[in-house]
Amino acid sequence: MSRFWSPVVAGLSPYVPGEQPKLRNLVKLNTNENPYGPSPKVLEAIRAACDDSLRLYPDPGAEQLRQAIGRRYGVEPAQVFVGNGSDEVLALAFQALLNHDAPLRFPDITYSFYPVYCGLYGIRQQTVPLTTDFRIDPADYLPGAGKGAGPVILPNPNAPTGRALPLGDIERIVAANPDVVVVVDEAYIDFGGESAVPLVARHDNLLVIQTLSKSRSLAGLRVGYAIGSTALIEGLDRVKNSFNSYPIDRLALAGAVAAIEDDAYFQQTCAAVVRTRDALTADLHGFGFEVLPSAANFVFARHPGRDAAQLAAALRQEGIIVRHFRHPRIDQFLRISVGTDAECHSLVQALKGIFG
Ligand SMILES: *Cc1c(COP(=O)(O)O)cnc(C)c1O
Repeated sequence: MSRFWSPVVAGLSPYVPGEQPKLRNLVKLNTNENPYGPSPKVLEAIRAACDDSLRLYPDPGAEQLRQAIGRRYGVEPAQVFVGNGSDEVLALAFQALLNHDAPLRFPDITYSFYPVYCGLYGIRQQTVPLTTDFRIDPADYLPGAGKGAGPVILPNPNAPTGRALPLGDIERIVAANPDVVVVVDEAYIDFGGESAVPLVARHDNLLVIQTLSKSRSLAGLRVGYAIGSTALIEGLDRVKNSFNSYPIDRLALAGAVAAIEDDAYFQQTCAAVVRTRDALTADLHGFGFEVLPSAANFVFARHPGRDAAQLAAALRQEGIIVRHFRHPRIDQFLRISVGTDAECHSLVQALKGIFG
């Protein structure tokens, strides 16, 4: 606390990211990074961009990247917005599109950055409980079901549960709320969900947000994007150009274009993560864990006989870090990112030791 802080700053409860330990040799399964490196073509493109041109500002409109994303997803560049990680895209969307009189609706168990942005921008929130089996029930977002008719934000697959909604359910929610924006945060969509991007052509209130951090192994590059109607994209552009004209630097631009264009590497690494996830799920069942069905690059699991915090601490002793949230309803779960087969093998060996 300081007398120099503005009242808004004094009232903030900032997001707490998962730990990035300095120690090497840890098996790091706590922040859903991709265990495989980025495409070699990405590294090549970034190296090639390392030259005297760094004295110049980057393209403020990130035209080349928006064209690449447009080609990849079958939309116009004017329907694409890019930002410094999808967290920045989300923040701008909260400010530009989700800040209205009616409270913003999102699940009680979801990405914990959403309430933080609400605090930052003074947006009222209405949390909608997941079902007892940790599903989003689309009926809870239809008119008449909720108290307000405010905008909606949902991750699909949801975080940290990993459960995905079918596209039909997403469309029901979007179609039932034509006068407010519905944001679908697809950070994990490439690991088994059905993307809502094709719905953008039919619904001008839908904004789909994706990131290069997970499925394209570029958490360190900080690039995310949104796809939506040109009116929604223009709203985001207006806020961005009132805040930071150059969120994507020259190296990030070069790397991101190469990442979007190397579809073969992307498909191959996503498939490897999915295979390992399914094997890890079977292994966890073998230890007696309940594992929620995951369409993401992590699993969310609880053990009927072991306290989750104690399990996380015991794994840490073995050099393995997983994520544990001290939040109501989910404090007996562990969120375990899918690593390489070797990393998941280390986890299984450690669990054998712990379970005796
Ligand atoms: C990881 C994640 C993001 C943010 O990713 P960036 O690295 O900022 O692009 C956004 N939403 C959810 C649900 C995430 O898990």
